Amino acid sequence: MFFQFKITLLSNLREPVTAVLYDHGCTGIEERDDALIAYFPDTVNPDKIIAALSAFDGLTVSREAVEEKDWQAAWKERFECVRAEGFLICPPWKIQGNNPATFITPPLSPSYLKMGMKEGAETGYEGNERLLLIDPGNAFGAGDHITTLTVLTLLRQWAAAQDNLAGKSLLDVGTGTGILAIAARMMGVVDVTAVDTDKSSVEAAEKNFALNDITDGARVIHGSVRDAGAAGPYDIILANLFLEPLLELMCPVAAALKPGGALIISGLLAGQEGPVLNEAAKSGLSLNDGIVSADGGRSTGGGPTWFSGMLMREEIPFPSPGACPERSRRDGKAPGRG
Ligand code: SAH
Repeated sequence: MFFQFKITLLSNLREPVTAVLYDHGCTGIEERDDALIAYFPDTVNPDKIIAALSAFDGLTVSREAVEEKDWQAAWKERFECVRAEGFLICPPWKIQGNNPATFITPPLSPSYLKMGMKEGAETGYEGNERLLLIDPGNAFGAGDHITTLTVLTLLRQWAAAQDNLAGKSLLDVGTGTGILAIAARMMGVVDVTAVDTDKSSVEAAEKNFALNDITDGARVIHGSVRDAGAAGPYDIILANLFLEPLLELMCPVAAALKPGGALIISGLLAGQEGPVLNEAAKSGLSLNDGIVSADGGRSTGGGPTWFSGMLMREEIPFPSPGACPERSRRDGKAPGRG
């Protein structure tokens, strides 16, 4: 069983409330004109959600139970393929054989054929795009959130500036569905490590690696930066997180980067980047490029703007992860939004 909340609210609250809902275990949100319908598995304590929402003025909350089969159908229905940065990002059920809208032109990898996709049919698919299949499960990262897409933009910029991606290694901190790690591997980064402190995200990411036929040069680890240290140091680290974990992880992240390596951060509301960039400077990282993006998600306007940035680590020696201050040792814990 699942339960759902109907949250009637002012439009300027949509994004922050959405963030709080996802932080509290929400697995899907339907947008209505004046309300959000948020779905939760019944393992989540509704009182905690109500308590978290009480921090906002200007909303009302009502609750009802819903049958799992209805919820699953409604949830799947709302997903669309997303086209961004050379990728067509789709949930697998949109490209199954009985869905003619999503036939894809060749070349097709064996797993797409297995799922009943047909070659050569006419679609909106552009032959030079890569198909990236994401079954979100309970994880974040279906490709429809602006904070994910701006990381893809910066990753493409980084990739274009490299002579050769063979030999490059990447760490994706907070991989969620695995979307960014998979995209990087498809772009040609040969060694990809993805970590997440959330077990169901690790499971989703492993499933999505397999869906996209990524079997070598990539691994998913349950944990955080320190647990991935052994596979580093890395040429590039991606971190689409929130304020608090970005602050706390900055030192171990910098220590896991090669000198001259790049860090892409995302998930900060515009205006929150100041303290993060200060913390980064202490670890020898400085801002190279920033994107401030208006909300490009499904919300009907009035959402916040987000900050994403690419930072470069100076070519100086930097202490080992063990030398980072105690404060940043909390990186194994799941965060709240800062
Ligand atoms: N990378 C995906 C998902 C981002 S959501 C995308 O860009 O779309 C953020 C993810 O970070 C969540 O899956 C959450 O479980 C994970 N996370 C939060 N704090 C973390 C930490 N300290 N270390 C590793 N993962 C963390």
